[in-house]
Amino acid sequence: MSADTERDTLRKKLPEWVETSRKLSASGKVAQYIPELAGAPAGALGITILGPGPGDLLQAGDVGCRFTMQSISKVFTLLLALMDRGEDGVFAKVGMEPTGDDFNSMLKLELVEPGIPFNPMINAGAITVTSLIEGEDPLTKFDRILAFFRKLSGDPELTYNPRVYKSEALTAHRNRSLAYFLKDNAVLGPDEDVEDILDVYFKHCSIEVDCGHLARLGLVLALDGKDPVDGTQLIPTRYVQIVKTFMFSCGMYNASGEFAIRVGIPAKSGVAGGILAVVPDRYGIGVIGPALNRYGNSTAGVHLLETLSGALDWSLF
Ligand code: GLN
Repeated sequence: MSADTERDTLRKKLPEWVETSRKLSASGKVAQYIPELAGAPAGALGITILGPGPGDLLQAGDVGCRFTMQSISKVFTLLLALMDRGEDGVFAKVGMEPTGDDFNSMLKLELVEPGIPFNPMINAGAITVTSLIEGEDPLTKFDRILAFFRKLSGDPELTYNPRVYKSEALTAHRNRSLAYFLKDNAVLGPDEDVEDILDVYFKHCSIEVDCGHLARLGLVLALDGKDPVDGTQLIPTRYVQIVKTFMFSCGMYNASGEFAIRVGIPAKSGVAGGILAVVPDRYGIGVIGPALNRYGNSTAGVHLLETLSGALDWSLF
């Protein structure tokens, strides 16, 4: 399909597709385990699709909805850690394999040798990756992460939501136990303070965005790390290749295989209901739909991406 036909189809059909997929939110549930997320509008669904050309901005549904990135931030903290430590530095501490377990599972950490997290997209892996980001103290680390997000999103005002951050910090018993386990396994080094690392992790999960931000971040990945406005190489291509591969194999947690079959593009979900998806060389996509399925992925959001990919032949294979 030519780019023009595709744009026309999207312009005509997107609002209708959103309304059809919105119905799927009734079969999902808003995340409760971070109390501050529980009040999100369960029936909301919005999407922004952004390409590099003029007129390549298509939106429908509740695109004004603001939400926290949650696990979507894992993609970008991994990029920063790769830029700080290189591949060898990162993959000495975290693996490259899907788990088949829930995103906050401890199971494999004890079951398999060496006891490093299976991949950087699950919580144990992302907490480890957070520890690898350069910065002499937690504030400096988080400032560097936020500056990176601001640069990639083109929004200098981007910041974290203090209520969501606090709410998670007060209730993150599972993440705390994962992090202390990692410390005991020496995945987190002797100089690493577990609470400091968790603090940076909770803050980057709480960075607040809308669908437009996610689409713009996704577009940088779609363009292999280039700034969509001036073409500057913001991230080394190799590292973008690595994170897109992780998104494809592990980005939708233990539903990543099904998503790869049904949708077929790199994507990353978060428990606030966001999904960042990438159509290589063409689009960055941001979706919000707070009602989640049992894997922690937006029910309506996944359905909408499946509809789009089917109609526009986006699957990579
Ligand atoms: N901050 C969340 C947590 O650690 C992120 C998880 C997610 O989005 N799946 O539990």
